[in-house]
Amino acid sequence: MKYISTRGQSPEKTFTEILLGGLAPDGGLYLPKEYPPVTREELDAWRNLSYADLAYAVLSKFATDIPAEDLKAILDKTYTAEVYNKGRADSDFSQITPLRTLLPGVHILELSNGPTLAFKDMAMQLLGNLFEYALDKQNAELNILGATSGDTGSAAEYAMRGKRGIRVFMLSPNGKMSAFQRAQMYSLQDENIHNIAINGMFDDAQDMVKAVSNDHVYKATHKIGTVNSINWGRVSAQIVYYFKGYFAATQNNDEQVAFSVPSGNFGNICAGHIARMMGLPIGQLILATNENDVLDEFFRTGAYRPRGTDHTYQTSSPSMDISKASNFERFVYDLVGRDGAKVREFWSRVDAGGAFDIKGTDCWHELAKFKFSSGKSTHLDRLKTIRELWEEYGVMVDTHTADGLKVGLEQRRPGLPLICMETALPAKFEETIVEALGRLPERPKALEGIENLPQRVVVMDANVDTLKAFISANIQ
Ligand SMILES: *Cc1c(COP(=O)(O)O)cnc(C)c1O
Repeated sequence: MKYISTRGQSPEKTFTEILLGGLAPDGGLYLPKEYPPVTREELDAWRNLSYADLAYAVLSKFATDIPAEDLKAILDKTYTAEVYNKGRADSDFSQITPLRTLLPGVHILELSNGPTLAFKDMAMQLLGNLFEYALDKQNAELNILGATSGDTGSAAEYAMRGKRGIRVFMLSPNGKMSAFQRAQMYSLQDENIHNIAINGMFDDAQDMVKAVSNDHVYKATHKIGTVNSINWGRVSAQIVYYFKGYFAATQNNDEQVAFSVPSGNFGNICAGHIARMMGLPIGQLILATNENDVLDEFFRTGAYRPRGTDHTYQTSSPSMDISKASNFERFVYDLVGRDGAKVREFWSRVDAGGAFDIKGTDCWHELAKFKFSSGKSTHLDRLKTIRELWEEYGVMVDTHTADGLKVGLEQRRPGLPLICMETALPAKFEETIVEALGRLPERPKALEGIENLPQRVVVMDANVDTLKAFISANIQ
C-alpha cells in the first residue's frame, strides 16, 4: 500500500514513512493511493472477531510494510480490557467499544473507555505503541511538542508515557483548564512527560509551538515532532470501530446503518467515510457540529468558509470548537475525483483566509453519492438532550455525544439503525452536567480523588527562548 498527497505533488510513501511525519511536502495530507476493498466473504469472516483481531484484519490492509506478526503483537497489546476499562461501571470492557442500545434501532457506541475518557484514546494508544516500535527499528528518538486546552494533550500523554525513545513537551494555559483536566495531565509522574503551564491563553501556547516548529534548524537538531489530528495513523486506527459498531448493531451483512458523529476536525467521520469507501454498508454518515458550524454549512450549502480563530465560539462542547477542519481536505480530495490540482486551487483560497463554493458544480451533484447528512446543536439543545436521555433511559452522556444524538435523531433516514459515536464521558464535563441535571456525573472508580494526587508541572512565561532552553536541557 502506497500513500499519496491530496495536492498531488509529493512522492509516494509507505505507512511507516508517513507515521512520524505531518503534512506532505506539498502542503497536502497523505491518503492511500486506493482504498483497499473489503469483500463480502471478509465481512462475513470478520463479524465475530475480537476488537484486536478485527483491528488486525483492517489495519493489515493499510500498514503493509509492518511484518504481520509485529503488527499483530502491537494490536494485541493496544486493544485489551486492561487499557479500556475506565468507562461506565456496567460496560462490557471485553468488547473495547461496547454498543449500548437506548431503544430498538438507536445505539451509542462507547468509544470512551480508555484512560482519558475520550475517543481520542482509541487511536492515540495505538500511535504510542506504533511510534515506539518504529523509533526502536530506526534507533531514533522523537520529542513531541504540543499545545492543548484539554483532550488531545492528555490522550497523547497517556499514550506516550513510559515509551522508549519518546518525550512529550505539552503546553497548556496556566489555570485555564478544569481541576479534573489539570489533575489528569499533571499527576503523571513519568520522566518522559513534561507538563508546561504557560502564563497566557491557549493561543499563546499554540503560537509558541508554531514558533519552535518554524525554526527548522532547531526542529531538526532537537527531533521535534507532533501528534495532531491529521496524522494518518490516527485516522486509520479509527476506521476499525466503524466495522465493530456495524457488526454489533446488525444481524447480517445485508443491513445498512447510519452513524452519527460529533465533529470538529473531521478526523473521526473521515474514518467513517473511508470505511464506507472500503465497502462497509453505511447508508448514512451524519455529521454533527455545535455552534461552530462551518462543516454543517458546507454539507447544506456547498460553501466551505473557515472562520478565523477570533470568530470561534467557546461552547459547552469545547472539543468541537474549531474554525478550520484540518482533515476535511482528505474528503474533498475524494469528492473532486482525486484531482490534486482542484484541491490545490481550493486550498490556495482557504490558506489565504478565503473560502470555496461547490454549489452548482459537478462536485455538488457528486456529493449525494457520499451519503453525508449534517446538522447543528446549540447549548440549549445539548442541555435538553442530556436531560431527556437521563430521564427516559437512565443514561448520562457528555456534551459532545449529546450534539451527536440530537443531530442523529433529527437527520436519520427512517428504517436505518442509528449508531451515535460517544466521544467522551460526562465525567469530563461536570459543569454542564450539573447545569443540565443538577447533579454531578459519576466518575470511574480509578479516577476518584485524582485532584489530590501530587502534580508535576513547570510554570513558564510565554517566551519561546525559555521554552527552547527547557527542551534542550531536558533531552540530554
Ligand atoms: C476531538 C473530539 C471531537 C471531534 O473529533 P474530530 O475527529 O476532530 O472531528 C469530538 N468530541 C470530543 C470529546 C473530542 O475530544
